[in-house]
Amino acid sequence: MRIGVPKEIKTHEYRVGLTPTAVREVCAHGHTVLIQTGAGAGIDADDAAYRQAGATIADTAEAVFAAADMIVKVKEPQPAECALMRPDQVLFTYLHLAADPPQARALQESGCTAVAYETVTGPRGGLPLLAPMSEVAGRMAVQAGAHCLEKAQGGRGVLLGGVPGVPAAKVVILGGGVVGTNAARMAMGLEAHVTVIDKNVERLRALDELFGARISTLYATVDAIEQEVLSADLVVGAVLVPGDSAPRLVSRAMVGRMLTGAVLVDVAIDQGGCFETSRATTHDRPTYEVDGVVHYCVANMPGAVARTSTYALNNVTLPFVLALADKGPTAALRDDPHLRAGLNVMAGKLTHDGVAHALGESA
Ligand code: NAD
Repeated sequence: MRIGVPKEIKTHEYRVGLTPTAVREVCAHGHTVLIQTGAGAGIDADDAAYRQAGATIADTAEAVFAAADMIVKVKEPQPAECALMRPDQVLFTYLHLAADPPQARALQESGCTAVAYETVTGPRGGLPLLAPMSEVAGRMAVQAGAHCLEKAQGGRGVLLGGVPGVPAAKVVILGGGVVGTNAARMAMGLEAHVTVIDKNVERLRALDELFGARISTLYATVDAIEQEVLSADLVVGAVLVPGDSAPRLVSRAMVGRMLTGAVLVDVAIDQGGCFETSRATTHDRPTYEVDGVVHYCVANMPGAVARTSTYALNNVTLPFVLALADKGPTAALRDDPHLRAGLNVMAGKLTHDGVAHALGESA
């Protein structure tokens, strides 16, 4: 199969569909890879590295789309890219179609087969192609939060781990899933006092077994949230209700009663955020203040650590890329129900129930 990898064109997107390591693997399976010049620049992989891995370099995105049987990307295709897709082509990338009717229409009109990373399922449940980005965002949340706590950033001037003779900071994490667990791990590594609040007791039990006495776990009630948030230095928002917007767990009034210079990192901002005062920010201007509380609400946190994120993403997408290429899309989708769950658009139709429902069509 001929696999095409265009350079990402969404603003501030530095990740790339295939790393040189993945290209070498794909080529070893007898496939060819055509990659746009400069596509790997954001992860420090130049054209020479891709050539050495076995890829051919194309000058333009048009050349990549024209020659490929399957396009492997990271972000949803932009209108100019949708216009280049054909009925005989497979697109394998993040799509997030439910919130993007124009893109859904454009992909339907192209006639292509579009498989979305974010709806591929795993044998033990969960969404395995989303998990690595949650791992990255969870770990980054503490890094970003620690920086925001510095005085010059508007923070309380508190070091997460304290020093001998001075207490460590108090970190409260709302949601103990993938983001929350990774944030907790990082905060504990920096020797902060960590409390995780979740409404799922099974998650709290798992965290307790994993981290023992180094972590406090609390069942999510209005009381528990209020008590912990009002005395926190850093609060990480990491809740998710699948298919729905994030529950607003912290009201504007509660933010107004928080410690001056406390920091809120709302990782759940891509689902609307779990603080009433949250609004999406960018890596260029990641923070703003409300009532003296610093808010960090970057919706695409993994993009800032493009190298780590790209390799983490490739680790989980590569087996599916190989299955699609080795067997061909028809057999690969037939044989694997988890990959089939990723199918969003085929021959002009929306094929995923959730996406179709969100867009007011039937699958
Ligand atoms: P997850 O499903 O693994 O975990 C979510 C947790 O929230 C679950 O344990 C659930 O029980 C808990 N929860 C749900 N409602 C709750 C409530 N009312 N009170 C307390 N806990 C509640 O999800 P995840 O992978 O950890 O993702 C968390 C959020 O981070 C999602 O919105 C995801 O889209 C987002 N995310 C954002 C970025 C970014 O760059 N900003 C990157 C990756 C993920």
